[in-house]
This record gives sequence, structure tokens and C-alpha cells, in this order.
Amino acid sequence: MEYTKLNKYLLIATLVACIALILALAIGIPLTQNKNPNNELKARRLLNQYPLIDGHNDLPSMVRKNFKNKFNEFDFNDLNKIRDKLNGTEGVTHTDVLRLKQGKLGAQFWAAYASCESLAKDATRIHLEQLDMMKRLIKKFPHFLKYVDNSKDLIKVFNEGKIASLIGLESGHAIDSSLAILRIFYNLGVRYMTLTHNCDVPWATNNRVDRLPNSTDYGGLTDFGRKVIQEMNRLGMIVDLSHVSYQTMLDALDESKAPVMFSHSSVYSLCNHVRNVRDDVLLKLKANQGIIMINFYNGFVACDENNGTVMNVVEHLNKVKELIGIDNIGIGSDFDGVPNTPDGLDDVSKYPNLFKKLLDAGWSENELIKLAGGNILRVLSQVENYAASVKQFSPLDDIISQNDLQPEFKKCRTLLKSLKMSNNWIKVKLSNRKDYVITACFFLAFCLVIGLTLGVVLRETNNLTKARKLLENNPLIDGHNDLPYMIRENFQNRFGKFDLNDFSKIDPFEIQGTDGVIHTDILRLKKGKLGGQFWASYADCNSTGKDAVRLHLEQIDVIKRYIKKYNQVFQYATSSKEIKDAFKRGKIASLIGVESGHAIDSSLAVLRIFYNLGARYMTLTHNCDVPWATNNRVDRLPNSTDYGGLTDFGRKVIQEMNRLGMIVDLSHVSYQTMLDALDESKAPVMFSHSSVYSLCNHVRNVRDDVLLKLKANQGIIMINFYNGFVACDSNNASITNVIEHLNYVKNLIGIDHIGIGSDYDGVDKTPRGLEDVSKFPGLFQKLLDLKWSEEDLIKLAGGNILRVISQVEKYSQSMIRSEPLDDIIKQDDIKPELKKCRTSF
Ligand SMILES: [Zn+2]
Ligand SMILES: [Zn+2]
Repeated sequence: MEYTKLNKYLLIATLVACIALILALAIGIPLTQNKNPNNELKARRLLNQYPLIDGHNDLPSMVRKNFKNKFNEFDFNDLNKIRDKLNGTEGVTHTDVLRLKQGKLGAQFWAAYASCESLAKDATRIHLEQLDMMKRLIKKFPHFLKYVDNSKDLIKVFNEGKIASLIGLESGHAIDSSLAILRIFYNLGVRYMTLTHNCDVPWATNNRVDRLPNSTDYGGLTDFGRKVIQEMNRLGMIVDLSHVSYQTMLDALDESKAPVMFSHSSVYSLCNHVRNVRDDVLLKLKANQGIIMINFYNGFVACDENNGTVMNVVEHLNKVKELIGIDNIGIGSDFDGVPNTPDGLDDVSKYPNLFKKLLDAGWSENELIKLAGGNILRVLSQVENYAASVKQFSPLDDIISQNDLQPEFKKCRTLLKSLKMSNNWIKVKLSNRKDYVITACFFLAFCLVIGLTLGVVLRETNNLTKARKLLENNPLIDGHNDLPYMIRENFQNRFGKFDLNDFSKIDPFEIQGTDGVIHTDILRLKKGKLGGQFWASYADCNSTGKDAVRLHLEQIDVIKRYIKKYNQVFQYATSSKEIKDAFKRGKIASLIGVESGHAIDSSLAVLRIFYNLGARYMTLTHNCDVPWATNNRVDRLPNSTDYGGLTDFGRKVIQEMNRLGMIVDLSHVSYQTMLDALDESKAPVMFSHSSVYSLCNHVRNVRDDVLLKLKANQGIIMINFYNGFVACDSNNASITNVIEHLNYVKNLIGIDHIGIGSDYDGVDKTPRGLEDVSKFPGLFQKLLDLKWSEEDLIKLAGGNILRVISQVEKYSQSMIRSEPLDDIIKQDDIKPELKKCRTSF
């Protein structure tokens, strides 16, 4: 019994020993293959301490493709759960919260991308939508992601344990050949732009020409392309050369004053793909102090779409290191932008594996720190430093030559009018300046003597003086001025061609637009005692469904430029608080209003972008319908209300404007749209520049029943001065007509709902006594003569619109927890003629 028991134990022990041996062998084999088991740990530790900054991830385009940017339709925490629902990259997405955490990512350039299909059509809109989407996603995970736009914040956010999220623009067709749009993208936070995708832009060629014989015959950058580089340098936006042609690479390296990047490209000498970078370019890149961030795509690292391993990526990294050293390499995975990734680098969770392999291959920790993020951080801060060093340079005025635009690029483009203004008016004025100054001095001295004698006597009695004083102490805020349009029409937005101080000297025959007169300049604004202005960003109806987004953004760029250039006179404002602050400092508070709804090209994301850019009202339509609202011209037709007002999507636009804190402007819209908007809006609405229908039956004016509803809504009508609206006679009107309209509104709905919306520089005929912006005090004088109380005049001047603005702000504040609206306009709501330039979702 003892023996059998012992035997039993022996048998068990032998079995256990055998199993242990087999297990040990099984584990031991990979252990011997694994050169250093600690390298895995070491890699993770390194990425905990130093940021891994990936140059390119296409998550935004993945979200667009799979979910149409609708946030309720996916859970970004774990996208693996819904693998079978996805299309794009073999039913796999590479990026989500769970895997990002495993991957130890420190920072990411997220790519805003729109396919070449959108080239010369709606590329600007789609890129803006992607920007909006990415910013929303970042905001939705505040403990995990944080938006940054500079190198300092990047480090700060990394130290907070969050993924610093930057935005790169892929690619150049996003700016639709406009430097103004480039600036707008910079303002929105974009920190690199890939010059082309796999299609040429009118100013740069793409990698596909390199497949053709004599590829360099196709050229690289045009003159305008070089301006794009200069402007990117000036702004502090990194020039990205992934996707561009060999010749464009050479030209850009030649032109750029700051380091450039390849955000996601690999090495041509290891895989002869035109998307990869040749050795001679890499050597120039080293001289430029730029960076190549290695793309993981099988097709680029292994030259075989279906097969590739992490070791192929290691080969590319080694090759660059050997050729140009350690200071010019980074990681640009292209996750979610490519269909196949190498084994061992399947998704964003696998970065530590790459670093382990590099440790195995003998890379030092120091080298890995540079590769991970040190190099791209250095590039980013050098680009920032260059921009800081040229801060005094003005934005570039250059416009692409119309000849550079091939016919297919012109189809969806509103072409600029040729410059009518000759260049010598400025010169003429300058040569006369001396005489002018002397005359002015004598005149001033004379006036001073007369003024001193008469002033005391007249001060209390003269209502003009009283009016001026009133406007000095209380802001006069005009609801609508089209100066930006005037600058576009007459000067093509070229700041080198005009001086905003004094337009009165320009030969009237040279001016187009308003009857040979520009109504607005600084000299006259000062006389007019203007305290605040909504400057209108306007593009005409011809741009509807075409390039309205770009044109409006260009106008916002112009407004911001003149506010900045003449900052001794103007101060940018976006809120009631900022208006008051500007007024206190003696500046004209300068706000932006978008005229009109076609600017957003039926996209709520673009509406949000306009809000982010500072726009604080939007006129729903101009004199043309948008797919979601009808305009005043339908009111000339019999049974006008049959045409409808707002569609369901139109109501969403109102809701989103309310949520954002943007005033709904009903000037230009149809009667039915007015009713629908008043019904829908939870915050006060405005008529930024409309007059009274009962006094002049023009469809641009507002009917009494609407005015009564406006009172209930606590909104405001800002009276338009245009002869055709106040006197129903475009050739004959006077200040008295304007006063009639003001009195009418005051009598009908009270003093709390009136303001001034001159429409200067937007109309060709203005009333006698209100010829231009210098004449505002005359209007207030007349109203004093008519016994309007000072209290009433303060409300009319700016009190009422300030009240409306702050009520709109308060409503928005109350909605602060609500999500942006995801709604997309129905394809059926868009008429065929508006679809021609539109890439379908
Ligand atoms: Zn790409
Ligand atoms: Zn207008």
C-alpha cells in the first residue's frame, strides 16, 4: 500500500515535471527569439515620458464615411464593437479611445480631408465640416483629448495626460486657390496643409504626374503656388509635401523659409511608389531642417498592399536615419486613411510594438525620443518662430491668375470682376497731400476761433451739438454696412490698392457699385460718430450652390484685416460686453454679420464655423431662395405663401443659431419665412436693414402683422435708409422719409424695437441729408427737433440692439449643455441646379 501510494506520487510528480518542461520549452522558444524581454516595457515607459506625435490620422474621414458625422450613431470608445457595420478599411477602423490608450499616443495631427471629387466644387465646405466634426469629437472627450494649436500647449497637454489634438488640412484644394481661405483655415486652428492630394490644384502638381514620362514637364509650383508657401510661412502653418509631385517637392523646398514636413510618406529607394520620397529630396529636406514622418501603409513600406510587417516600417526608419540622420524623422501612420496596415502595426494600439522593435534593432532611447515627437516638436516651433519673426509683414494680397484656372475649375467659381480702379489715384492724392495739409491747418485754425466764440452760446441750444454729444456718450450701432462688398468690387480685396481713411477723393467714374460714391471711410465715420457696426459679409446670389462659402469667408478675412490694419479706429467685437468695451475705448465696435444664408451651403457645420469665426447674425436669404428658405421675391408672385417659408431643415438652422447665440436676421426673406422664423426662434430676431411696408409697399419691407409679432418676440427692426425702401422712389428721398419710418414703428410697436440699419455701400441711392456715414448726427438732431426724448434716442441708437444681443447671448448660455445639431439637409430638398457643384454625402 505504501509502495502503490509512493508510485502514485512519483507518477504525478513525473507528469507535472513533464508538463512543466513542455510549458517551459513553449514559453522559452519565443523568449529566445525575443532579444530583450525588457524592451517592451522600456518602450512603454519611454512613451509615457515623452510624447509620441503622429503626423497623420484620417479618423475624421472615417467618421464622415461611416456615420455622416452624426455623433449619435457611433461610440468612439470602442469601434471594434461595430466592426461589421463599417466600410472603408476592410471593415476595420484603426482608431478609438480604447486602442489609443493602449497605444500610448501623446499627440495627433488629425487630418481634415475631402476627396478629389470635391476639387473645384465644394471642397472648402467639406473641409470645414471635417474641422467642425473633429473639434466636436475632441470636445466630447475632454478628459482624454484636448485641442491645441501650438508647440507649447502640446507639451502642457501631454503632461496633463491627454492626447494633444492638432488639425492638419489634407489638402490644398480646400483653399480653392484663395490666400484668404488659407488664412481662415489658419484662424480656425489648422497647423499644416498638404499642398495637393492625388490631384493637381491650379497652383501645384500631385504625385500622379510622376508616373508619366518626363513628369517634371508638368511643372511643380506656379507663381501663385509660391505665394501659398510664403503665406503659410508668414502665418506659421507647416508646408506638407506628402502627396505632391517630385517637382512640387523641389519647388516648395526651394521656396519655404521655414522647415517643411512630409506628414505621411515613406522612402522611395526602398519602395518605388510615387507617394514615397526620393533620396535627393530627403537630402534637401535635411538642409531645410524639415521632417519625414513615415507612413505605415503596406503599399508604401513593403510595396505590397496585402503583405507587410512592422519590420518593413523599421527598414524605412533605418534608411532615413542612415541617409540624413536622426533629426528629421517622425511617425505619420496614416491610420484610418489606408486599407492595409502591416502585421504588428494593425492599429493605434500597436505603437509600443514599433518602439520595442527599434530598441531591439539597437536604436538608443535618445534617438527614439526624437523619432517619437522631439523632431516634429522642433519643426513646429521653428515654423512658429519664423512666423513670429515676420509678424510685421502684411497678409499677401495675391489673387490667382484667371489663366491659371483650367475651364473645369471655373465651372463652380464666381469670377472676380476685373479691377476698374486705376492705380494712380493714391499717387495723385499723395502728391497733393502737402497743399492739402496746409489748407487744412489754416481752415482748422479759422474754425477754432469761430468755434470758440460761437460754441459756448450754441452748446445748450443747438440740437446738432446735443445729438453729437448723445452719440459720444451712447453707442450708435448700425445693423448693416456693405463696405466689405465695396472693397471687393472696387479693389478685389487688395489692401495695397486703397486707403480706408478717405475715399472721397476717388474719381467717381472709377467706382462701381453705388452711383460713383463710396459711403464709408474713416474720415466720415468719425464725423458720423458711429459707435458700433455690423459689417456685412456678402456674396451675391450667383454664388449660390457654387462658391458662396469661399466668397463669404474671403469677406470675413477682409473685415478682420481692416479692423486690424486700422486698429486705432476699429475694435473687433463678438459680444455685448466687447461692444461696450470698444465703445469705452473710443473705438468703433466692429461685428460681423453674414449676408446671407447661401453662405453655409445648407450645412449646420459650416454655420458653426461662421459662428466660430465671429459672425453674430446671419440673414437667412438674400434675393434668392436657399434650399431651406424662400426670399422676398416670391412675395411678388400671386399666392406667394404657396412657396412655403422655412423647410424642416430651415427650422433646424434657426434652432442651431439660437443654440450658438447667433441672431436670426429676417431682412431679405419672404413673408412666410418671416412668420416661420418668428414662430421657431426661441431668442429675439432682427431685421438688420429693412423698412416699413405700410409706408412703401416693397417686398423688402416689413408688414404690420410681422412687426407686431416682432414685438412679441422682443426683436428689432433696424431701418434701412435706401431711397427705394423709405420713399418708394430710388431717385428721390430725404431724411424726412427715414424719420417717417422710425415714427411709424415707434407708434405701432413702441420704442424698444427700433434701430438703424443704414445699408450704406450696399445701395446706390441714399436720401438727402443722409448721404453717407458722416450724416448720422443730422438724423438724431432732426429727431430731437421732433421731441424724441434722449432716452428714446439712446434706445434707437444702440440700446435696443444691445439688449437683443445680450438676450440672444443669454438664451445661448442657457443651452450650453445641449449638443450641436447633427441634421443633414435632405438630398431631395436640393434642386438639381444646386447639386451641380456639390459632392453628395
Ligand atoms: Zn493622405
Ligand atoms: Zn441687403
